[in-house]
Amino acid sequence: MMDYVFKMVVIGDSAVGKTQLLSRFSKNEFSTETRATVGVEFQTKTILIDKKLVKAQIWDTAGQERYRAITSAYYRGALGALIVYDITKYPSFEQVPRWLDELRAHADPNVVIMLAGNKCDLEGLRAVPVESGKELAEREGLLFLETSALDATNVEKAFLMVLERIYRNV
Ligand code: GDP
Ligand code: MG
Repeated sequence: MMDYVFKMVVIGDSAVGKTQLLSRFSKNEFSTETRATVGVEFQTKTILIDKKLVKAQIWDTAGQERYRAITSAYYRGALGALIVYDITKYPSFEQVPRWLDELRAHADPNVVIMLAGNKCDLEGLRAVPVESGKELAEREGLLFLETSALDATNVEKAFLMVLERIYRNV
C-alpha cells in the first residue's frame, strides 16, 4: 500500500542533463545519448520516509523545452521540481529565472524547488561559479546542489531532499 504519491517535474534548458539525472535516480543508469525518451512521460521511484511508502512520480520533458513549449499540464499539481542548468554552459544558468517564473505560475503554490548545477564532473570546463548558483538559490529561496548524472554525485540527495521537504509540508 502506497502512503503518498508526490508529483515532481524536471525542467531547464535542452541538453543540461535532465533525462540523465532522472535515469540515474530512478534506474541508476547513465547514457551519453541525447535522444528524448519517446512515449514515457514520467518515471516512478518508491522510497521510505518515516516508515511511510512514498512514490515519487517524476515527469521528464520529451524535448519540448527546446521550443519553450512545455504545457501547463506538465506542471499541474507538481509538489516538487528540479531546475537544472549545466555548470559548463553559462546561458543555461541565465535561463533559470525564466524557468522559475514558468514553474511558479503553474505548479502547486507550495512547490519545493531544487536548483541543480549539473555536470560538476566537468570541473575543467566550468563556466558558472558555485557561488553564483548558491546566491541565486538563496535569493529565490531554493534548495541548491551541484550534481553529476555521470558519476552520480548528489543525484540521490537532490531528489531526496525535495521529497523529504514535500513530506514535511503535507
Ligand atoms: P536533457 O536534454 O536536459 O534531457 O539532457 P540529457 O539528459 O539528454 O543530456 C544531454 C547530454 O549531456 C548527454 O550527452 C548526456 O550524456 C550528457 N550529460 C548529462 N548529464 C551529465 C553529467 O552529469 N556529466 C556529463 N559529463 N555529461 C552529462
Ligand atoms: Mg531530456
